[in-house]
This record gives sequence, C-alpha cells and structure tokens, in this order.
Amino acid sequence: MSSDRIKIVWIYPDLLATYGDQGNTIVLERRAALRGIPTETVHMRSDEPVPPDGDIYLLGGGEDRPQILAAHRLRRDGGLAAAAQRGAVVFAVCAGYQILGHEFGGEEGQPVPGLGLLDISSGRGEQRAVGEIVGDVATELNVPRITGFENHQGATRLGPNARPLARVVAGIGNGGGDGTEGAYAGHILGTYMHGPALVRNPGLADLLLRWAVGSELRPIDDSWAGRLREERLNAVLSASR
Ligand code: GLN
Repeated sequence: MSSDRIKIVWIYPDLLATYGDQGNTIVLERRAALRGIPTETVHMRSDEPVPPDGDIYLLGGGEDRPQILAAHRLRRDGGLAAAAQRGAVVFAVCAGYQILGHEFGGEEGQPVPGLGLLDISSGRGEQRAVGEIVGDVATELNVPRITGFENHQGATRLGPNARPLARVVAGIGNGGGDGTEGAYAGHILGTYMHGPALVRNPGLADLLLRWAVGSELRPIDDSWAGRLREERLNAVLSASR
C-alpha cells in the first residue's frame, strides 16, 4: 500500500465492463471497510491517463472491438504497465485478461498485440464458451474453489512464466486443451470468470487485498456469502454430472 488507504483503479468502464464486472470494485471496497481499511476508488475512462500510483487495478470483460481499442489505448498510455512493474495488484476478467497477454484474436481472428504483462497468448477458439464454470485454485494461493460465468470466443495458452489460476471442474476456462482456467504471475491475475468474480468468490477478493496490504487479513463473517456459494456450486455440479 502506497499510503494510508488502498487506491483501487477501475480501468475503462466505457469499454471494459460487461456482465456487471464493476461489482468487483464494490466488493473490494466493502471487504476492506469491514476490516477498517480505507479505500479510494477512481474510475478511469479510456480518454483519461491511467494513474501509475494505484494499489489494485481492475479490468472487466468487453466485446471484440471495444477490447481492441482498450488494448491500443492502454499500450499507448503505459500507466498500467508501469504500475504492474512496480508490483501493484492487477485483476482482469475475460477481455481484460486477454489484453494482459502478448496477443489476442480480434473480431476477424487477426492477432492484436496486448500489454505482455502476463505470459499468455490468446486466439479465437473453435467454439464460444458460454455457461457456468467451477475451478479448483492453485494450492499456493490458498483460495477455496471458485465459481463464475463465462462467455468468450477466445482461447488462451499459458507460457512458462504464467501459472494456471485453477484447474477446471466444470466449464471451459482457458480452452487451450490443458483443463486450466485463468493465470497469474506475481500480483497479476486474470480469469475468464464473470459473476462478478469477486462477489461470487470472496476468497479471491481477499487474496487481492492481502497482496495490496502485504499482510494477512482479519477474518469476517461470510455465512451469507457462503450459503449463496454453496447453492451455486451445488446447482452447477449437479447439472454437469
Ligand atoms: N471478446 C472476447 C472474447 O470473446 C472477450 C469476451 C468477454 O470479455 N466476455 O473472447
């Protein structure tokens, strides 16, 4: 944390914010507040410079053309890359996740350069991945099973410098044939999960907050969130049997 509060930067709500992904900002604010940690959230539209002094940067999903424009502007701006190199936390969903990689597939499948902050590359998959997804998170991240909703044409392959976020239990995820979902390296983490992901997975929200403050967090009462998660997980897993 660079000051007495966590600075959350919500990147390009005008281009990258499908399926209520903005809810991720609200959950981080709320879970920090419940522990007495102040936050400040700034919404940066795509015609504004990305501040390099944030603690947590969030990117959401987007349709193909807004995604290309967002990638172009983020590359030109340089603020997100500077923050990531300094160790800031970056959490990106779907289109935002693909943008963090070396390249992704445009609306005609043409390769579009990304930011190269995560060692992943995406292209157009054979089939659109639409539906519920469940995954078991890499053990070193200490996050319970994650659940979300996916809707993407892109398929993503991980290079040697990125680790899979999770192993797919139901759904498609990265779609590169290795049964993985999402990727992370250092404090940069991407996923195909909407939901919003941090609403449906408070453990993932707390991982980002732990990274931002650099220490463990006081536990909070998650009984309501836990019941809703149970209900969702049971519904998905019984349907996929
Ligand atoms: N346009 C991208 C794809 O289809 C991302 C979609 C999304 O963000 N939901 O792969």
